[in-house]
Amino acid sequence: MSPEKLLRPEILALSAYRVPEAQGMVKLDAMENPYALPSALRRELAEALSRVDLNRYPEPTGRRVRELIARRMNLPSGMELLLGNGSDELIHMITLALARPGTTMMYPAPSFVMYGVNAALCGMNAVAVPLREDFSFDAEAFIARMKSSPPGLVFIAYPNNPTGALYAEEDVLRVILAAKGLVVLDEAYHAFAGKSFMQRLPEHPNLVVLRTLSKLGLAGIRLGYLAGRPQWIEQFNKVRQAYNVNALTQAAALFVLERLEVLEEQAARIRAERAALGAALERLPGVTVFPSHANFFLVRVREAERTDQALRRQGVLVKNLHPGLRNCLRITVGTPEENRILLTALHEAL
Ligand SMILES: *Cc1c(COP(=O)(O)O)cnc(C)c1O
Repeated sequence: MSPEKLLRPEILALSAYRVPEAQGMVKLDAMENPYALPSALRRELAEALSRVDLNRYPEPTGRRVRELIARRMNLPSGMELLLGNGSDELIHMITLALARPGTTMMYPAPSFVMYGVNAALCGMNAVAVPLREDFSFDAEAFIARMKSSPPGLVFIAYPNNPTGALYAEEDVLRVILAAKGLVVLDEAYHAFAGKSFMQRLPEHPNLVVLRTLSKLGLAGIRLGYLAGRPQWIEQFNKVRQAYNVNALTQAAALFVLERLEVLEEQAARIRAERAALGAALERLPGVTVFPSHANFFLVRVREAERTDQALRRQGVLVKNLHPGLRNCLRITVGTPEENRILLTALHEAL
């Protein structure tokens, strides 16, 4: 019995998401917040988690977490939230819900790989509209493409991953106004961008805003949220697996979101480090640094493969995007110490 005879060809064509072994490495490959919670808070958190009734199913929609997110993230009145096991799960739910036969998903490219993966999983037709050579957003070209193959679903990462670019607000607005389908603005890096479309939700019936706590400092608990009109949330909620956000995640999120200023202060440190790291990277010979509004830099080097291998040998893990993005590495902003190690290693590795 061979799986190849039974599986859908689009699944056979995919590769599983692989993550390299990071034990003992300076881990700058996954846009994680490098700072732990202060130890007093960790002890308090352990207490809070010990009170969770693990024998009981979690509250199915995470009601208290939603209420707290609505308050702490200034959800506009009249809008609702849907929680996901990471925003990855929400991308999946949205795509599954909108995947009428023949529907097109459109996104600027390069962008977050999960958009295309979910289009394939759900049988949508993926149209990746190239960014300009310098990775800036060509709104003209995008809107022209929306006219020629009207998408039911548009994903825009704001700021974009893996480039770090924050597209001009008016360009994004033009896309939202021109789109006949749903526009998902993926604000995974909002804490580092200082810009958001959250407050504009009430103005645009075809807009939803997707966010995650992962890049903010809680990648381990897997919690994403989707904000939008009740009419959208109600439909996507039907696609949600029962109990998709587990009780420990809900308890941890409640605990940390009550103390959101701790993560916000860490994000401010990361933004300050970003400026210093960006300037230092630019001083390296043969390195092109693309401007970033996120917690990472896309850099172009002479030979990405060689540089990546040399960094690894020195214990530094970054993301090699080559050959998809020619000679490009994506480097997460770490602690000052980690960034120093990176820069020293990079001097050797170029
Ligand atoms: C990291 C990332 C996500 C996924 O985040 P999770 O909540 O951890 O699943 C979504 N969108 C973009 C653009 C990202 O970079």
